[in-house]
Order: sequence, then structure tokens, then C-alpha cells
Amino acid sequence: MDPIRRMTTPSLYLQGKGVVYYLGQKAVAYGNKAFVVGGETALSVAGDSVRKSLESNGIDVSLWDSTVKECTKGKIDELAEKGREVHPHFVVGVGGGKAVDTAKAVAWKLKIPSIIVGTQCATNADTSAESVIYTEDHKFMESIVLPRNPVIVIEDTDILCKAPYKYLVWGMGDALSCKFESEAYAKARDRKKDGPVPTGAALALADACYKSLMEHGLNAVRHVRNGICSADVDEVIEAVKLSSAMAFENTGCALAHALHNGLTRTGTMKSQHGEIVAYCTIVQAAYEGRKKEEVAGLVSWCDSVDLPTRLSMLGDVDKTALKRAVDYACEKDHNAKNMPDKPKPSDVLRAIEELERGK
Ligand SMILES: [Zn+2]
Repeated sequence: MDPIRRMTTPSLYLQGKGVVYYLGQKAVAYGNKAFVVGGETALSVAGDSVRKSLESNGIDVSLWDSTVKECTKGKIDELAEKGREVHPHFVVGVGGGKAVDTAKAVAWKLKIPSIIVGTQCATNADTSAESVIYTEDHKFMESIVLPRNPVIVIEDTDILCKAPYKYLVWGMGDALSCKFESEAYAKARDRKKDGPVPTGAALALADACYKSLMEHGLNAVRHVRNGICSADVDEVIEAVKLSSAMAFENTGCALAHALHNGLTRTGTMKSQHGEIVAYCTIVQAAYEGRKKEEVAGLVSWCDSVDLPTRLSMLGDVDKTALKRAVDYACEKDHNAKNMPDKPKPSDVLRAIEELERGK
């Protein structure tokens, strides 16, 4: 039998200045009782617009919770329990990754749709049917795959542009990986014939994301730093929030995220997820033996937008810790299986050393 192609997406994605206005108008198709979930900061920024949009369309905000600090099992269970008493028709998650992932998981527990309103650009969690669960002290626990994506995703650029510019840089760092990882993933499935193959659409989105970052990334960072919400910023927000999210969800992570996971286990990383992933993407590209110009292009782009290009920029990692991180990435991390050939620690270490020497 020919391999199955699968693709999962949200039903509606809206991006632009002031689009939170349309939230209620679009959400009413799913009922008239909302459960709004978010963090304190996100709801202090976007909460009024969210409530106004819902209520002006006849939707009762029957529950409002602004206590999400981390996406934990405990918080998800607590909010789902609250929801069971009130029977909302949908959950509206407002905020960054933690609030969004919590809202999606709560909606899943209540068997109702989720709707997402993003408030910053560091995460591409908004559109995906996944929640990443952590312990109270932010240790990764598990990633759960939900049966469906949020039905509506709202990215109001007026709100996103007010978040610190570093968030946009971190979001770009994470999104940078998706072209390299999805291409590796496609090759792995083709070679191993062990599961659904990615659609051409998903691979095209990964490519579009990469091109958009290269073309608009630097301008976008400059503009957001100066409080300007320009066309370049819009392009980058779409690349992070839609293209990278749909690409990674419909393909898979590979060596870049495997190495990220290995490095974070050293306990000495001072950098954010997107920063570590950007560096690890350069390592993956070098490991794959991509053309020197391509790897050099990645390095200079990362330099230009202030993403790390050397190990020492991420934190203190001595030789032993690095070896352990690389061994973990190649031998234990589940993302390594998405490389066409099982990565050898010695080859990955060689790629890292070459980058350190600026070769
Ligand atoms: Zn990531």
C-alpha cells in the first residue's frame, strides 16, 4: 500500500491589526458560553478586547481564569474541573505558549473546541494540536497530541507588536529549524517506510517559512524594536505562527530539537528555547554536510538578528557535558529517529567543533 499523507490544521487563522475584534463574530458558530483561560500579563494586555468582542456578539463569558503560570497537569485538571461545573461551549486561550497549551488541553478534557488569541511571537504553539506539559518548576514532562487543532486562531498584530522584541527573535529561532527538520523527516520516512509521509503542502510551508525569515527577519526585528508594526513584521509573524507551526506539526522535529533536548539536560543553559534551537539548526545543517555557503548563510543571518551561533553563547558547557548532551541527542532523544540515518555522536561533535572554529 502507498504511504498515507496526513495534514492537520486549524479551521480559521486571522492575522492583522485589530483582528481580535472578529473573535466573537467567528466564535459564535461554536456556542455562546466561553471559558477564557490565560496568564495574568496576557489577560491584562488583551483581556478587555477579548471580553468585549465575545460579549458584543452575545457570548456569555461564563468562566475567566487568569492564573496560568505554567502548563502543568495540575493546572489542566483544576481548570477542567471548574469547566465541568459550568459547561462552557468552548475555551478561549489567551497568551503565550503556557496559556495556549493549557487552554488546548482543558478544551480536550472537556471535549469542546479551543480558540486561541496569541499575545506574543516567541511560540508557535497557537495553531497546533499539541500541548507540552511541564512540572511546576518548568521541567519538561511530556508532549500530548490532541485530537484536533484549535478551531480559530487570532493573531492581532497590534497586541503582538507590543510584546518585547526579544520574543520575536526567539520565535524566529525556533521557526528556523522547521525547513531543516522537515526535510530530514521527509527523507527519513522515505527511506524507512515506517509511517505517514509528509504532504508536499507541509514541506512547502517549511520552505516558505525559511524564505520569509531570511528576507524579512532582520527588518522585522529592527521595526519591532522601534515599536513599528510593519509589513516585514507581519511576514515574520505569519512565518512563525502559521507556516512554521503547520510545517512542524505535519512533519516532525529532528536533530536540531534532539540536540536542544540534550543540551538543556546539562542544566547549564542560560538561553531560551528558540535561541538554543537556532544554534542547533546550524549544527544540524553542518552535520548534514550542506553546502558551506548555506551553513555560512545561516550563521550570518543568526548573527544579524542576535541569535547564538557559538556554543559559549548558550551557557557553560564543558567537553564532558557536551559529549553527554550529544550522546543523549543521538541515542535517546525520540527526534533523532527523524534523521534519515541514525546520527553518530562523533559526527555531530565534529560539526560542532567546526562551527566553533568558524569553518
Ligand atoms: Zn521548538
